Amino acid sequence: MHLIVRAGVLVATMALGVFAAQQVFEWEVHDMNRPRPPVVAPGAENHLPPADAIVLFDGTDLSAWRSSKDGGNAKWKIQDGYMEVVRDTGDIQTRQAFGSCQLHIEWAAPEVVKGSGQGRGNSGVFLMGHYEVQVLDSYENDTYPDGQAAAIYGQKPPLVNASRKPGQWQTYDIIFHAPVFRDGAIEKPATVTVLHNGILVQDHWEIQGTTFHKQRAAYQPHPDKLPLRLQDHGDLVRFRNIWIRPLDE
Ligand code: MG
Repeated sequence: MHLIVRAGVLVATMALGVFAAQQVFEWEVHDMNRPRPPVVAPGAENHLPPADAIVLFDGTDLSAWRSSKDGGNAKWKIQDGYMEVVRDTGDIQTRQAFGSCQLHIEWAAPEVVKGSGQGRGNSGVFLMGHYEVQVLDSYENDTYPDGQAAAIYGQKPPLVNASRKPGQWQTYDIIFHAPVFRDGAIEKPATVTVLHNGILVQDHWEIQGTTFHKQRAAYQPHPDKLPLRLQDHGDLVRFRNIWIRPLDE
């Protein structure tokens, strides 16, 4: 351990006439004794899973997923490297539980446009099964802003509408920090950053609580890790190339 005193801080502190604790730093500037970050081989392209990612869907099978409805195997369709919602089979969720994470997921709304507003390419990415990043065909499709694509549903519209046309593949890159509860109450709210098709749409935003419909979000205490859930909202939304990197807090 290299404990040093930053003289400037100390002088400033004394100049204020305050007898404060000396500010110490664990490492000197440019300290060669500092541990090196682990080496991680990136994917061949930025959207492909890096070496340390957990691949949740590689286009071939749904083994990482189960039905949220009955806990059995996920019943969505697999075709040509993507999975597609099968109406009324219910949401699907990962078998593994996650807390804070980096998540990459690609989705496409049906190419043939039916419906409008919330009834058009609706699905959702529920972080920890509680916090929905909305999936919706929001290409020239007006709806309430806190329910359009990349909104934190019912809470926060995206900074911009970065939607591609229906049928085209779109990406979400999400950085999520799980909430911390203490004695059954929220101590540290969750935060979320979202890039939609590479564009920043949620900027380290503080989530207000569990997603509800037509009701103000509120935190409900839950375990430190929970499954990631994808929504069956009755629309034939497709997903592919899903990978996650759990983040240590
Ligand atoms: Mg939804």
